Amino acid sequence: MSEPALPFLPFALPEIGEEEIAEVVDSLRSGWVTTGPKARRFEADFAAFLGDAGLHCVAVNSATAGLHLALEALGIGPGDEVITTTHTFTATAEVVRYLGADVKLVDIDPATLNIHPAAVEATITPRTKAIIPVHYAGLAANMPALLALAKQHGLKVVEDAAHALPTTSAGRLVGTLDSDATVFSFYANKTITTGEGGMLVTRDAALAKRAQVMRLHGMNRDAFDRFTATVPSWYYEIVAPGFKYNLTDIAAALGLHQLKRLPAFQQKREQLAARYNKGLRGLPVILPPPPAPGDTHAWHLYVLRLADGAPIGRDALIEALYAAGIGCSVHYIPLHLQPYWRERYGLQAAMFPHSQHAYEQMLSLPLYTRMTDADVDRVLAVLHRLLG
Ligand SMILES: *Cc1c(COP(=O)(O)O)cnc(C)c1O
Repeated sequence: MSEPALPFLPFALPEIGEEEIAEVVDSLRSGWVTTGPKARRFEADFAAFLGDAGLHCVAVNSATAGLHLALEALGIGPGDEVITTTHTFTATAEVVRYLGADVKLVDIDPATLNIHPAAVEATITPRTKAIIPVHYAGLAANMPALLALAKQHGLKVVEDAAHALPTTSAGRLVGTLDSDATVFSFYANKTITTGEGGMLVTRDAALAKRAQVMRLHGMNRDAFDRFTATVPSWYYEIVAPGFKYNLTDIAAALGLHQLKRLPAFQQKREQLAARYNKGLRGLPVILPPPPAPGDTHAWHLYVLRLADGAPIGRDALIEALYAAGIGCSVHYIPLHLQPYWRERYGLQAAMFPHSQHAYEQMLSLPLYTRMTDADVDRVLAVLHRLLG
């Protein structure tokens, strides 16, 4: 008789508690289910969390929407080029195409797996308008170098911070750096979730205003300002063909409590990552790069790379982990391998050697707050059996 199989350990799970559930039910009972007081409170709480009075927070229904709105507000359009990393999810780049601009994909730093500032610099042309760094896995991209390049060449910077809550760069929280805008994701598997949702953060009042108008049909209620105090509540003006990107109060209800729990979530993620780091010592693997001393890694992902010469290949390792009841993933199949990006820009793997090599060797292990130490140890035991 074989032992009873352990339940499947999924790759990711959200942690939704009774407070979130009660807050959602409160929204449902209140009759206010779409954007309203809770979405506004979530924006205010998010700004308070970032702790910088100069910031504007604009809640949206996804990070993809937030990235689109940020680039739109910055005037990115046909004829422009925007530089980003090939080692990301397609959302980072697709928003550039929404606006008719072109994407210039560049390679990563093999140590950090983040966009390589030297590769960015080599790709800048007179048509370049913006850079979109991604804080891959929750580790800050080299923002001092990227912001210096942007300043030198007059480029905008929009941070894709989908993995980066809470991440710091040189002691400052991502969201409070000197970029033009930063966009967080609250997708189901991110460090906090609203099911679907995102937050656009900026110091630029005009950018925030444009994003607020464009997230809801290009509707401007401040048109009231032109009238005197007795403007009717039904009045609005359409100033552009906007989008439908507003965050509902049902989603914001989740976000209000997820944000309160973020410090505890972060502590748990750090503890799980440390347990993996310790338990993987001695195996033929490359551990995830640590944050700079004193900085915070959000540990959205725990990305392991097989060392050259490991006794099993990446694909077979993932299959064996699945057979042992453990879910894994790969972040990411680089954009240069995806048919749309490859064909549109004539890309080849040899143009992105670091991303390509990392991709072939990498897998993301389960890492989420509902995991126990025993869950981590179970993953470690299988890895020791397969790689030891
Ligand atoms: C999840 C993710 C996004 C998209 O976030 P959504 O909220 O699902 O739109 C964008 N970029 C990266 C790197 C992501 O991981």
